[in-house]
Amino acid sequence: MPKKKKSGVKRYGPRYGRKPRKEVQEIEEKKKKSYRCPMCTKKSLKWKSFGVWECDSCGLQLAGGAWTPLTETGEASLRAVRRAKMGKEIE
Ligand SMILES: [Zn+2]
Repeated sequence: MPKKKKSGVKRYGPRYGRKPRKEVQEIEEKKKKSYRCPMCTKKSLKWKSFGVWECDSCGLQLAGGAWTPLTETGEASLRAVRRAKMGKEIE
């Protein structure tokens, strides 16, 4: 008899303890949320697979953080790229 798939952290049952399960739940909540798409600015950017995000509206695919489209490191590197581009335009 096929088992009914439990949703969320319940599928782990009592295993792994309270803290890891809580962390997994927080990550999964972040993952399920929709984020603002940088292309069409609609809130339709969704988690597709590990580090890959896809926009439902314009079909844009982007590589981002594993569980959020933009990590702090990602944002820092974006700023660096932007700064480098601006420098070129001034030249
Ligand atoms: Zn989009």
